[in-house]
Amino acid sequence: MKNTIKLAARAARAERTVVRLSNGAAFGGETLAICAGPCAVESAEQLEACAKAVRSNGANVLRGGAFKPRTSPYAFQGLGESGLELLRAVADRYGMAVVTEVLDTRDVALVAGYADMLQIGARNMQNVPLLRLAGESGKPVLLKRGMSATVDEWLMAAEYVLLTGNDKVVLCERGVRSFDSSTRNLLDLSVVPLLAALTHLPVIVDPSHGTGIARLVEPMALAAIAAGADGLLVEVHPDPASAVSDGHQSLTPDEFGVLMGRMSSLAPAIGRRLPHTLLEGIA
Ligand code: PEP
Ligand code: MN
Repeated sequence: MKNTIKLAARAARAERTVVRLSNGAAFGGETLAICAGPCAVESAEQLEACAKAVRSNGANVLRGGAFKPRTSPYAFQGLGESGLELLRAVADRYGMAVVTEVLDTRDVALVAGYADMLQIGARNMQNVPLLRLAGESGKPVLLKRGMSATVDEWLMAAEYVLLTGNDKVVLCERGVRSFDSSTRNLLDLSVVPLLAALTHLPVIVDPSHGTGIARLVEPMALAAIAAGADGLLVEVHPDPASAVSDGHQSLTPDEFGVLMGRMSSLAPAIGRRLPHTLLEGIA
C-alpha cells in the first residue's frame, strides 16, 4: 500500500535546515559545529579541564554524559542531575552550549532544563516515547544512528521528532555493528553524502564511538568533514588512562589541538569554517 504519510525528514526542500543553539553554535551552516568533551562527566575538575582544552582549540559545544547508557549495569552510570549542573555551569563559563544524553522518558524535562540540545543515543534511536517527548520539549535533538539501524529506520526515527512540530533535528553517524571487531564499530562515512541527498537535516559524525580507538579519531574526523559533515562529536579527556568510560577512544587535550589544527587547513578547502578559537575572558 502506498505510504500516504508526509515524510518530513525526507522533504526535498531546497533549503537545508540549520539548527542553531543559544551560544551561536550552528549545525548545517558554513561554520562547523564542534562538539567535544568527556564521555562521562566525572567531576568538576575533570569537566573544567575538558572545557578549557576543547574551547581554547575551537569547540563550541560541550558534550558529556550525566546519564550513561552502559552495557554493564555494574559500570559507572553517570552523576545524574549533579552532572547536568556541572555541564551547565562550566559551559556557561566558557561560552559553550551543552549537548547531553537523555536516556529515560522520565528525565526529559530535567535534562531539557539544563541542556541546549538533547542527545538520543544509539541504544534509544527507536525508543518512540523518548523521541516524542524529546521532540515535544522543543529543544534541538541530536539523534545518533542505532548500532544496527538502516538509513531508512534512522530517518523514520527523526520523523517521530519532526512530527511533534520540532524541526531542530541533527543526525549523528556513530558507526554500526559489523562482523569485524578490529574497530569498535564500522564508521559509515558514506551516509554523509547519501543523507545530503535524502534529507534537509544536518549530519555530524562521531569518530570516537565510530572507531573506539583514539589514534583513528583524527583521520576519520578529517575524512568526515571532507565528506561534507556539518560537524563532529569527539570525546576528549584530560587523562584518558584514568577515564571512567571510553578512555581508549578519548583524545588528550594536545591530540584534540592537533586535530583542530589540521581541521583549520582542511575546512576552507571545502568551503567550511571552524568556530572562533579563543574566547576572551577565559582565565
Ligand atoms: C555517547 O555519545 O556518549 C554515547 C553513549 O554514544 P552512542 O549512543 O553512540 O553509543
Ligand atoms: Mn563514550
